[in-house]
Formats: sequence, structure tokens, C-alpha cells
Amino acid sequence: MLSYRHSFHAGNHADVLKHTVQSLIISALKEKEKPFLYLDSHAGAGRYLLSGEHAERTGEYLEGIARIWQQPDAPALLKPYFNAIRDLNPNGTLRYYPGSPLIARHLLREEDKLQLTELHPSDFPLLRGEFLKDSRARVERADGYQQLKAKLPPPTRRGLVLIDPPYELKSDYQAVVKAIHEGHKRFATGVFALWYPVVLRQQIKHMLRDLEATGIRNILQIELAVRPDSDQRGMTASGMIVINPPWKLAQQMNELLPWLHQKLVPAGTGHATVTQIVPE
Ligand code: SAM
Repeated sequence: MLSYRHSFHAGNHADVLKHTVQSLIISALKEKEKPFLYLDSHAGAGRYLLSGEHAERTGEYLEGIARIWQQPDAPALLKPYFNAIRDLNPNGTLRYYPGSPLIARHLLREEDKLQLTELHPSDFPLLRGEFLKDSRARVERADGYQQLKAKLPPPTRRGLVLIDPPYELKSDYQAVVKAIHEGHKRFATGVFALWYPVVLRQQIKHMLRDLEATGIRNILQIELAVRPDSDQRGMTASGMIVINPPWKLAQQMNELLPWLHQKLVPAGTGHATVTQIVPE
């Protein structure tokens, strides 16, 4: 089943959280000279037209990136993320939103590598087209979960693995844990970043319980909720689980989240939290 298209959701509050965390991790990895691998298991199309039929229909980006990218009081920590957006929108009008592969493309150095997988028959060619001239990148139409077995550890033994499935299938909540466990066995020092939606809180509790049961140490949870938990339909919050987070990440997100929450949720509902759920 591949009915999910990220173009309906690009630039929403969940993308803002995910791509903020992604850009901070990449910036931290760049503090050392040694090259690293960026592995994106569920990469999407790469670029999203915000005036296109899909994004216009939901208008989610209007309550997400559109609310913050030109704010004069934006914290400096958001610069790498915002620069990736400006790179696609040089005349100052928000026309395109960069997905995670394009944010990485903007931030990675000449010597770093990208490994991207996407399964969707329409999104894969778009993604491949974005990277035709980028010799750092390998783009494959393959199962993202398998990549954590097949492509780890990277030769340089440094890297960020982003896992961002659509959670169309209930089994995704178990599949992510299994894939991370496999990946971590092969690359215990890597940074793993898993995105999750909060639709039913119970699903996330179970996923975290399964993740903790793997014995993996040093796990940070970052969450931004726009509404309180609910048993009605729809996503009320999203979060990032980061294994082996860069040492400054918790402090950076504690600094950023109040600003992001205030701008993205003017009504003040929901919450924003940073929690070390498993110690080092
Ligand atoms: N990471 C992207 C970003 O931040 O811009 C968004 C990715 S979107 C949430 C999830 C993507 O995973 C969809 O484009 C979907 O087609 C793709 N997908 C679904 N199952 C997959 C699988 N088993 N392997 C690889 N990609 C898959």
C-alpha cells in the first residue's frame, strides 16, 4: 500500500520539527572534519510545490513553515534550516518546500555522502531527478527498512540515519523498532533519528516500550503537540526519537521549542518537551 503522498503535508508543523532536528544534527556532525553518511530511508520526492494542488488542498504549510520562516526574531539556531528553504526560494516568496533529502543536500559538504531510498512510483523519479548531477548521492527505489541492514555501517563510521515512514500500516510502529535494532547492531555509534506522529498516544507508548526493550542506550525524545492527546481522528502532535544525539541537541531544542510552539500554535494548546528517555 503506497497511497501516502508527502506533498499534502509538506511544510506542516511536523515537518518543521523534523527538519529543525535534522539540520541541527547535521550541523553538529560537520563540527568534525571526518566525512559522514546521511541515510534517508523514506526520502519522499525531495521538493514540494506549495502552490500545487496537493499542498493547496490541505493548506498545512500555512500553519507550519509559512508562520516562521521570515520572522525577524527567529533564533539563530534555525539558520541552517531556513537557509535550505531560502536556497529554493531566492526571491523571498515561499513557492517550494525542501524535503529532508534537499535539506541534507544543502547542508552536506563535498566529502559527505547521501544514501536515499523511496518506493513510491511517482515520487521516486522526482527524487532521482533532483540528484542526477550530485555525485555524493545514491538514490534507489528500494525498501527503506532494508537499508539499515544493507548500508550500515558506513565506511567512515560516522553518520545520521533518518527514518521517516508514513505509518500508513499499523505494522510500521513495530517495523521502525526492528529496523533500528538491526541498524544499531551494525552501527552502534551512529545517530538514528526516527520521526513519529501522535494519533493515538497508546501506539507511541507501545513503540517506545519496544524500543527500550532492545537495550539501546542514550535515547532522546523531542515532541511538539499542537493540541492535547485525543481519541478522535487526526494527528495532535509529532516527535523525534534521537539515538546518540549530539551532546548539544537537548539544550538547543530546549531553547528553540518555546519559540516554535508559540509561533506555530498561537492559541497555546498542546505542549513542547525534550526528554532523555534512556540514559547513556
Ligand atoms: N522524509 C521525507 C521528508 O522529510 O521530506 C518525507 C517522507 S514521507 C513522510 C514517507 C515516504 O516513504 C513516502 O514518500 C512513501 O512513498 C515512502 N515509503 C513508504 N514505504 C516505504 C518503504 N518501505 N521504503 C521506502 N520508502 C517508503
